[in-house]
Amino acid sequence: MTTAILIAGGAGYIGSHVALALCDAGRKVVVLDDLSTGRRDLVPAAATFIEGDIGDRDLVRRVLAEHGCTGLMMFAGSIIVSESFQMPLPYWRNNAAAGLAFLETCVAAGIRHFVYSSTAAVYGTPDRLPVAEEATLRPISPYGRSKLALEWALADACEVAPTRFAALRYFNVAGADADLRSGQVSPVATHLIKIAVEAAAGKRDGMTVFGDDYPTPDGTCIRDYIHVSDLADAHVLALAHLEAGGDSLIANCGYGHGFSVREVIEAVKRVSGRDFPVGLGPRRRGDPPALVADSARLKRMLGWTPKRDDLDLIIRSAFEWETK
Ligand code: UDP
Repeated sequence: MTTAILIAGGAGYIGSHVALALCDAGRKVVVLDDLSTGRRDLVPAAATFIEGDIGDRDLVRRVLAEHGCTGLMMFAGSIIVSESFQMPLPYWRNNAAAGLAFLETCVAAGIRHFVYSSTAAVYGTPDRLPVAEEATLRPISPYGRSKLALEWALADACEVAPTRFAALRYFNVAGADADLRSGQVSPVATHLIKIAVEAAAGKRDGMTVFGDDYPTPDGTCIRDYIHVSDLADAHVLALAHLEAGGDSLIANCGYGHGFSVREVIEAVKRVSGRDFPVGLGPRRRGDPPALVADSARLKRMLGWTPKRDDLDLIIRSAFEWETK
């Protein structure tokens, strides 16, 4: 196949793993990234890299035409729930406004297939677990609301354009490529597994559990941690589904079972063989007590079979990346 896939935000953590998966599958990949949080060295050598902003309509038009892109995947955006409370408008600008400009440009350019990185944050605090795609959408953070806004815009646009979309709602993504070609990089880490492996690697003195008075068995929050390479596989399958003429779809990406914050920290200590101090702090704003995916749709419609559903394996790869 000679048609190219544009990956917006392909120098970031998840985008670069998807770029690797597509390159490994022999696809022609073009990465567009402004490097505000992404890193040039995470972009696969086989991909074409263009530095720029997804909201730059002229640039996006030119890139789509020059490389003959028929499909795209959209990862660019701001992703830290707690930060979104401090700076709501930049979240709306990056995730909704820039995303909308990008969407308009791509739809006008005749892009057929659009894979969007959505999030479990669109559900807020679900009434029941595991949460299925039909659950009420009640995001409780500016992050979740800005991501849902673009998901809705995309669905509305695809009603009248010849574009079809897949919105993949990620649960908690962690781990690194098996060959350590990419992994999570953030100047200031906020995600649990990243912080815990940094502590295990001696890059920080210790860490804090944000609240142990949640209505869960050990009082700490429960999340469904999915290996980034299983998530990347879901993207490759979603694109193949759209390219084969499949209908637009919205699908959860998670394993269907969760671990508490304390269980994750214990697993990091066990897998790394390193101990580190763990303090207790107050709850963090915007954290629902528990989030676990019902991923039956992803399995049924895309034939997705998780290959790395193993918390220790996820943590081992994250720790190896951290100490690389
Ligand atoms: N968490 C924690 N200490 C940390 C970082 C995270 O206790 O230093 C908790 C956080 O409060 C949440 C869970 O770990 O309950 C997962 O948070 P993360 O930021 O990794 O992902 P999110 O669920 O916010 O997308």
